[in-house]
Amino acid sequence: MATKGTVNVQTENIFPLIKKFLYSDHEIFLRELVSNASDAVDKLRFRSITEPELVEEGEQLCVQVIPNREAGTLTISDNGVGMTEEEMIQNLGTIAHSGSKAFIENLQKAAKAEASGDVSLIGQFGVGFYSAYLVADEVEVISKAAGQDGAIKWTSSADGQYTTEPGQREGRGTSVVLHLKEEQKELLDSWKLRNLIKRYSDYVSHPIELQVEREVGEGDEKTTELAFETVNQAKALWKRSSGDVTDEQYAEFYKHLTHDWEPPLAQTHFHIEGTQLFTGLLFVPTRPPFDLFDPDRRHGVRLYVKRVFIMDDCEELLPRWLRFMRGIIDSDDLPLNVSRELLQDSSITRTIRKQVIRKSLDLLEDMAENRPEDFKSFWDNYGVVLKEGLHFDPKFKNRVADLLRYASSHDAEALTSLKDYVERMPFAQKAIYYAMGPSRQVVEASPHLEAIKKKGYEILFMTDPIDQWAVQALTEYEEKKLVSVMTADLDLGDEEDEADKSEKEAVAEGFKGLTERFSTVLTDRVGQVRVSDRLTDSPVCLVIPEGGLHSHIERMLRANNQNVPGTRRIMEVNPSHALISNLKTLNEQKPESAQVSEWIEMLYDQALLAEGSPIDNPAAFASRMTRLMSQAVQSEVTTEA
Ligand code: ADP
Repeated sequence: MATKGTVNVQTENIFPLIKKFLYSDHEIFLRELVSNASDAVDKLRFRSITEPELVEEGEQLCVQVIPNREAGTLTISDNGVGMTEEEMIQNLGTIAHSGSKAFIENLQKAAKAEASGDVSLIGQFGVGFYSAYLVADEVEVISKAAGQDGAIKWTSSADGQYTTEPGQREGRGTSVVLHLKEEQKELLDSWKLRNLIKRYSDYVSHPIELQVEREVGEGDEKTTELAFETVNQAKALWKRSSGDVTDEQYAEFYKHLTHDWEPPLAQTHFHIEGTQLFTGLLFVPTRPPFDLFDPDRRHGVRLYVKRVFIMDDCEELLPRWLRFMRGIIDSDDLPLNVSRELLQDSSITRTIRKQVIRKSLDLLEDMAENRPEDFKSFWDNYGVVLKEGLHFDPKFKNRVADLLRYASSHDAEALTSLKDYVERMPFAQKAIYYAMGPSRQVVEASPHLEAIKKKGYEILFMTDPIDQWAVQALTEYEEKKLVSVMTADLDLGDEEDEADKSEKEAVAEGFKGLTERFSTVLTDRVGQVRVSDRLTDSPVCLVIPEGGLHSHIERMLRANNQNVPGTRRIMEVNPSHALISNLKTLNEQKPESAQVSEWIEMLYDQALLAEGSPIDNPAAFASRMTRLMSQAVQSEVTTEA
């Protein structure tokens, strides 16, 4: 009895997309299917540790590739774990079975990208099994799950529908039968197949056997018979020495591991010996996954113990701030029956994890030093994630700090490292100054920078929301404090003698009337009003009291419905600005004047606008502006008349 079903409705449109995007690359179907088969064998081997009865004495675990000219089919068969009917429906009926909103959105993006010709986007989708439809009109999957009786056949012709029914299969495992399209029949040629397997799957650690026709007998007795020959080296790639592996082989292995269709940006391959023995092969993907910031996203490396696959996404061996790395770790010391619980508090895990961090940082440092273009691309894609390391792994803080890159007033385009910043610092400059805001353009124009610019000091522009949190963890670099130019206690390292001090006090005293008036008008909006020594051209600015959040961060958190205590900021007025000194005079001459209050309101809104913050009441601002402008025009007109 056959059951019909629909392949995940939202993704119906994927078939034409896959065909279109990957047409030129259709041969990758073999890598994808052999990967799945080899994973299934891995999983079986793992299960057989606790259920040895699953594998028969002397049974060879392998993947077979079987061309059949008469039937026009190519079969990829394995004696791995197999799938139950439910598993087939679940795994084969849903593309990339994340089913998440982000996935669907990205699929739609890919559809749009189709129009713009950005074919690489589709590579992010892990449509492994579906690549079968690049070469086949119809695919049958016949599977018998380990430890179960009876096989199931799943059939679909890439029209969004599938059927399942009882199937025929001798032993445990899965056969994927591809009914090749007419124009793909050349794939039945064993010479061609051998080359494809060599190219795409040489590093697979299980034997891949190709069925070939062999001539036997002599003279009239000569006939052909079918036989299997092993095509690949069947040695885990990571167990080879790194000198024996080409970049191309690494790239193929990476694609096999991740289903990515682009080669990686970089890789590191290492064998650790000492108190612990393990091998690692880690990659930085060229393009970040679409769900890099999804908190539920699984990450981690694939864990093997003595070449036996143990688990995918082993998060215990890779910190969150390196969650973009992919790859494998093969340990000689962990027990084969290791569980996630055991991993969580094992000292072996801690040692491996530390080495994984070290090797990853080595790789990134090497890239920064020797492949600046690639490092730039790395930074643009993953810099935000790497910054989390400042908080989570204080031990590696200095090494992460060396990799940080920021936009800076030193250069309109190029990013700078902290190291280069410090090297450029003039002798008198004591701290590393930065300004924070939603974009370089906004931050660069902010009044807070005036005094620093005048001194000729360089300013870093921090525009990632995570920067506020990251610098809190960093606090200093090479013994130079990181100082926000937007904070209240900004110290430019000027030597101040008694005379300077009392002069400042005198100015503050002189402006006391005005600052008090400001305080009264802005009573519920600012925490304090005071005379500034950081401004040169602007009349006012708002600064952050100690421990306060930068305003754009506060807004962002609120927009995300987070409950943040509002920081009442400090308003600074520039005593040498004509507008402020005139306002002071006006306030002294006409303390009752409503106009003074109007100006103060205007100045407050202006301070908000100058730092890129929205103003509380734009309509009131506009009408106030109109009123003040009318008055100004009026006074011009009467004086001239
Ligand atoms: P991915 O491999 O990225 O998860 P695929 O579409 O290639 O995506 O495969 C979906 C799932 O189907 C796999 O994760 C696996 O659980 C199952 N699967 C595919 N091929 C096989 C096979 N030969 N044996 C057992 N399970 C398989």
